[in-house]
Amino acid sequence: MADTIMKAAREGRVTDEMREVAKAEGLEPEKVRFLIAEGRVALLRNVKRSGRVRLVAVGEAMFSKVNANIGTSGTVVDVEAERRKARIAVEYGADTVMDLSMGGDLDEIRMMIMREAEPLPLGTVPTYQAWVEGLRRYGGLGIPSDWFIKIVERQLRQGVDYMTIHAALSRELAEKAVRSRRVIPITSRGGALLAAWMLENGEENPYRSHWSYLLELFAEYDAVISVGDSLRPGSIFDQHDELQVAELVEAARLVRSAREAGVQVIVEGPGHMTLDQIAANVRLEKQLTGGAPYYVLGPLPTDAAMGYDHIALAIGGALALWAGADYLCYVTPAEHLSLPTPEQVKEGIIAARIAAHAADLAKYGARAAGRDAAVSWARARLDWKTMLDHAFDPRGAARIHAQYGLRTRACDMCGQYCACLVLGKHMRGRGEPEPEELTRRILGSTLLP
Ligand code: SF4
Repeated sequence: MADTIMKAAREGRVTDEMREVAKAEGLEPEKVRFLIAEGRVALLRNVKRSGRVRLVAVGEAMFSKVNANIGTSGTVVDVEAERRKARIAVEYGADTVMDLSMGGDLDEIRMMIMREAEPLPLGTVPTYQAWVEGLRRYGGLGIPSDWFIKIVERQLRQGVDYMTIHAALSRELAEKAVRSRRVIPITSRGGALLAAWMLENGEENPYRSHWSYLLELFAEYDAVISVGDSLRPGSIFDQHDELQVAELVEAARLVRSAREAGVQVIVEGPGHMTLDQIAANVRLEKQLTGGAPYYVLGPLPTDAAMGYDHIALAIGGALALWAGADYLCYVTPAEHLSLPTPEQVKEGIIAARIAAHAADLAKYGARAAGRDAAVSWARARLDWKTMLDHAFDPRGAARIHAQYGLRTRACDMCGQYCACLVLGKHMRGRGEPEPEELTRRILGSTLLP
């Protein structure tokens, strides 16, 4: 086994990285080591960028993490807009960024996003570049199987920290999917491209044919494989069908072999899914994969939230994270409609961060409640500076607060009739609980003192 962080963890070595993660997460280093050794936590990083990238741990007992997808499309290539999106991802608190570019000079755009988004780990879907450049180079779909692997190698050399590898989609499953009675047979872009390549060439998925070599590559860079979910439902009417479950079983098999090779791996899922199915889906993923970190795309609990899909994502995502998922891929208001603008990227990040924070409060209680303790007590005191400083979007919140001119110490919702103003003199001297005391109050007890 290559000398990866998973190998160190299995040998009982607590590394500096594990100590750093433990500090950020409020846990004991030994616990972090144990969870990495078990494959229940993954550190999203490529050794080539050690020291430049923040250590982001996803998985059991870790705070929920949020990813922002950015990048050009085949039809809209605005490099400056992508630069702004990368900066927004850092400013508004995304934990990671994925470059999903398919238009323009893909290597140049990726290196720009990597620089602008530092210190956030960067992920990619290498199938996109393999497809775009493969078509150009080979003049059509006769792209050789090993071309897909060469692109992975190139991106690992560039320092990409984790990649979606759609290896759970076999040729047999792709054939079944396109003949199925699903509303949308394959909604995943990478999955659809690979399925088209397999059906056209009559060959097995390149990532499956070269899986052992891929594991060697990821071990060499100690980077992370995110097992793609090509067959996630693109409609609630396709949820938890035979195809989705069959791909998850296959993903679990890949997780086992990656762990044997000392490669950190996470699993993607579950697409469009109604609220009643989400907790069962998370439990199934954890049960089948032995607790592999679950990276949720969606879940979108309705197909019909166009223009507001970031809100649908926040609803489904909060439930999934609370049920045990670990890592949430944001959705913007432009989902299902267009490539997002920088402003829509910001809205998507904020919605996903609120979902993640709400789930962490329910999962971890006091460990996650510092922000709420500060805001709640400041609200009772009408301390606007502290409140606004702790907002997910401080400038946006300040703008709304001042929108009618502020003629009292309260806000303009109630003005001079504000409850905290009216009762102010009677509340004086009642003793202010410290934030620590407030956080203790949600440690499993709802009884107020
Ligand atoms: S004015 Fe009304 S809404 Fe505003 S802080 Fe006071 S009670 Fe709350």
